[in-house]
Amino acid sequence: MVKETKFYDLLGVSPNASESEIKKGYRKAALKYHPDKNPTDEAAEKFKECSGAYEVLSDSQKREIYDQYGEEGLSGGGPGAGFGGFGGFGDDIFSQFFGGAGASRPRGPQRGKDIRHEIQNTLEELYKGRTAKLALNKQILCKGCEGRGGKEGAVKKCSSCGGQGVKFVTRQMGPMIQRFQTECDVCHGSGDIIDPKDRCKECKGNKVANERKVLEVHVEPGMREGQKVTFKGEADQAPDIIPGDVIFVVTEKPHKHFKRSGDDLLYEAEVDLLTAIAGGDFAIEHVSGDWLKVTIVPGEVISPGVRKVIDGKGMPVQKYGGYGNLIITFKIKFPENHFADEAKLKALEDILPPRTEVKIPPKAHIDDCVLTEFDPVKYGNNNNRRGQSYDSDDEDHHGGEGVQCASQ
Ligand SMILES: [Zn+2]
Ligand SMILES: [Zn+2]
Repeated sequence: MVKETKFYDLLGVSPNASESEIKKGYRKAALKYHPDKNPTDEAAEKFKECSGAYEVLSDSQKREIYDQYGEEGLSGGGPGAGFGGFGGFGDDIFSQFFGGAGASRPRGPQRGKDIRHEIQNTLEELYKGRTAKLALNKQILCKGCEGRGGKEGAVKKCSSCGGQGVKFVTRQMGPMIQRFQTECDVCHGSGDIIDPKDRCKECKGNKVANERKVLEVHVEPGMREGQKVTFKGEADQAPDIIPGDVIFVVTEKPHKHFKRSGDDLLYEAEVDLLTAIAGGDFAIEHVSGDWLKVTIVPGEVISPGVRKVIDGKGMPVQKYGGYGNLIITFKIKFPENHFADEAKLKALEDILPPRTEVKIPPKAHIDDCVLTEFDPVKYGNNNNRRGQSYDSDDEDHHGGEGVQCASQ
C-alpha cells in the first residue's frame, strides 16, 4: 500500500515531520491562505484544506489513522475517531492555534473578562471621600493544586480534543451537512486526562474554587460620575488566562439642593424681598456638613434670577487640591397680597424708584383691562377660550386726537 502524503504536502512538511514541524508548517500555510490576507476563492479552498490537514496531523490518534488508511480511513468515521469531514472548520482550528480570530492579534494567554460594578455616592460622600468595603465572590485557581487539577505531572492534555474539551463533528443528514460542537467524550469536556488517584482532592479536578474577597474601594474627595477605581487582575481566575480587572464606576446620586458642574456647585437660594433690596442674611446647608451664613450687604440689590458666586465653596478638586466655587442663582420671595395698607404702600413711593411711565402711541386703540387670578384648570388648555374672553369686550375706547387714555 502506498502511503498517502497529501496532508503533509499541504503543510509543506515530510511524513516524518515532528509535532513542532507540523505546527510550524501549518502556521506558515494558514498565514498565507487565511481569508483575511488572501481573499480569493482559491486561497479559501487552500486554507480549508490546510486546516483540515493540520487538524488530522496535530492529533496523534488521527495522524496514525491517516498514515495507515489515508483520508478515506478518516472520513469513514473509524472507531473513536470522532471526525467527520472537512466542512468549514478552518476558522476554528485557526483561532485555536492563534488564540484569536486573526493572525495580527497578539498571541499568548487570553485575558479574562473584567467585572464592572457601580458604586453609588451621595454628593456629600463625593465631597469628603470615603472607603467602601465591598465583598466580591470570585473564582480563583484551586490552592490545593495551583489550578492544575491534580498532582504535578499527573495531568495530561486530552489528545482526543487537543485539550479544548470540545470537538467539532460534521454529520451528513440526507442532503444536508450539519456541523456542530460537542463535548469531548474522552475527557468529558475538561480538556485533561487525570488518573483518578492523582486528582486534586480539594477541587476534584475542577482546577478552580470560589472565594469571597473584600475589596476596599477608595472614593477620593472630588471624584466625579463615571470615574473608575480599578483593581487590576482581581476578576475571576481560570487556568491559562490572565484574570481581568474589577472596575468600580463612580456614580453620583442626585442631591435635593445642589447640582454639580465639574468642580463647581450650583445652588438656588430663595430670599425675601426685603433682604433682596435692603440686605440681610440667609443660610445654606453645605455638602461639607457646615452651614454657610451669607450676608447681602445693604445697598446691594438682588434681582430674581441673578447669579452670584462664593469662591472656594464648590467641590474639592481631585489630585490638584483646592476647591471649586459655589454659584448661587437667586429666587425672590415676594410678600403676600395686602401685606401693607394703602398708606404704607404710598410710603413706598418715597423709597423705591418711580414707576415706569406708560407709553402707548397716541392713535392706538386702547383696551382697559383688569387682572384676575390664573386658574390652571380653566386656562391651562389653549382651546375653547376665545368666546369667553371676548364676552366682556363691549366697551371700546377709540383713541383719537387729544384723547388721553390713561391707565387708571
Ligand atoms: Zn485542586
Ligand atoms: Zn478531550
